[in-house]
Amino acid sequence: METKQFKAESKRLLDMMINSIYTHREIFLRELISNASDAIDKIYYKALTDDSLAFDKDNYYIKVIADKENRTLRLIDTGIGMTKEELENNLGTIAKSGSLAFKSENELKDGYDIIGQFGVGFYSAFMVADVVTVISKALGSDEAYKWESQGAEGYTIVPCEKETVGTEIILKIKDNTEEENYDEYLEEYRLKAIIKKYSDFIRYPIKMDVSKSRLKEGSETEYEDYQVEETINSMVPIWRKNKNELTAEDYENFYAEKRYGFDKPLKHIHISVDGAVRYNAILYIPESMPFDYYSAEYEKGLELYSSGVLIMNKCADLLPDYFSFVKGMVDSEDLSLNISRELLQHDRQLKLIAKNINKKIKSELVSLLKNEREKYEQFYQAFGRQLKYGVYSEFGAHKEELQDLLMFHSSKEKKLVTLDEYVSRMPEDQKYIFYATGGSNERIEKLPQTELVADKGYEILYFTDEIDEFAIRMLMSYKDKEFKSVSSGDLGFEADEKSQDSEAEEQDNKELFEYMKETLAGKVKDVRVSKRLKSHPVCLSTDGEVSIEMEKILNAMPN
Ligand code: ADP
Ligand code: MG
Repeated sequence: METKQFKAESKRLLDMMINSIYTHREIFLRELISNASDAIDKIYYKALTDDSLAFDKDNYYIKVIADKENRTLRLIDTGIGMTKEELENNLGTIAKSGSLAFKSENELKDGYDIIGQFGVGFYSAFMVADVVTVISKALGSDEAYKWESQGAEGYTIVPCEKETVGTEIILKIKDNTEEENYDEYLEEYRLKAIIKKYSDFIRYPIKMDVSKSRLKEGSETEYEDYQVEETINSMVPIWRKNKNELTAEDYENFYAEKRYGFDKPLKHIHISVDGAVRYNAILYIPESMPFDYYSAEYEKGLELYSSGVLIMNKCADLLPDYFSFVKGMVDSEDLSLNISRELLQHDRQLKLIAKNINKKIKSELVSLLKNEREKYEQFYQAFGRQLKYGVYSEFGAHKEELQDLLMFHSSKEKKLVTLDEYVSRMPEDQKYIFYATGGSNERIEKLPQTELVADKGYEILYFTDEIDEFAIRMLMSYKDKEFKSVSSGDLGFEADEKSQDSEAEEQDNKELFEYMKETLAGKVKDVRVSKRLKSHPVCLSTDGEVSIEMEKILNAMPN
């Protein structure tokens, strides 16, 4: 039997590619710049092993030139260039990556930053261009070649003139249609913004001639336009710098520049990991709650970069819900991306990173609590509720993790205290961790039940947030001490008080109690003599699982 070869319908394939892989047209620039950066990297790696080659970083750059009149966008790089064969193989064959081949040929395993691997990025140029021309001269070659294509129809290669080694790509930008605007890819401000967004941390300068205006010489009123070459990208990402070289201000500036928030960060966390999965991350705990934090619009997540190129704006999988307030970015060279680089292929590495980050945030919060109490309390005022939700959610799966981060107002200290602090100063005879629920500290203080427990000399935690009691019920106990509401039936110290007196009192008032029970039928279970009351005539208490406060909340919830 004869095995026949599949014939790839390049025409269809290209169409599919161009129209279905990418969701944002603007990423064509990210792809072409990544290729240019790869091409420069290749010279750099060659120079490492070839003494006849010197790599002077100043000679390498990428330049972007827009020409509105001719509707062309040009990208020039001083990279390794392509021979005729390479133009043919790498640009003439869809899904052929010369960069991937380079990596394996040169056995680059460690510390490389070459971005290309799928061999499709280049074709994204056809999303914005009718004609793509590539003029290239390879390192070590005297000849230059011009590759040209109108997309689906195929391509041509002819010899041409080019003085310097490297590649120039010329895009003939499409005309606007009724639905689509392509002019924007010729606008200076737009190009600058796209470069900043996706390619800010490419390690070589991306230059553009930008227009400025100045007073004409000799004139005090007349202005003239002129052009200056500017480097658009910041090149060295802050997260690759040494922590010791960076000041608090650098981190604050990055926070503002990235618009992670309009406040200042309360704390930054800079992580560099060189283990099973390599990554750098800069995380922030904001100072105040974003205005939309508890709205449906709020999206948790961290920016995700792959070797300095932005892949995702908000990668939600990197943060658990209870740390959804954390802002920042992660950059890793070890991610397996899917072909559009907009999604991740496998999330094994991502899961590892997420786990790692999670641990780090936790330990940073613990140390903030220990060493910078005031700051921690500020954090807790803003985001404590989220931690309590974390304790409660997923059937308490994270309670162990989060319990030491919780704080509640204390009747004794008149400020926020941790559970550990509470338990460590409990008198010997105190069985439970007491809490009282109510709308505010003042109201809780006035509760008859509070009075009794406080009178005993016991500390009480005030639960003023709806979630508090739910979270605590999930915890059940802390350091083997059970939580007990001051309004529950058994407070653990009544038994020794039950005297002949109250038995007698109960008997004396039997009729009255029966009458009250009848009148309040369906509203109360029992009416009893109480030893809890001091200055109040009556109080309500619960025996069951659900407290009065919880009942109120549950009743208010939509069915
Ligand atoms: P990838 O970057 O994933 O390899 P692309 O479709 O973006 O795929 O590019 C295909 C190949 O074309 C690259 O692997 C590289 O070998 C070559 N190439 C593209 N652009 C350039 C360039 N500016 N300089 C040198 N080679 C290039
Ligand atoms: Mg590429």
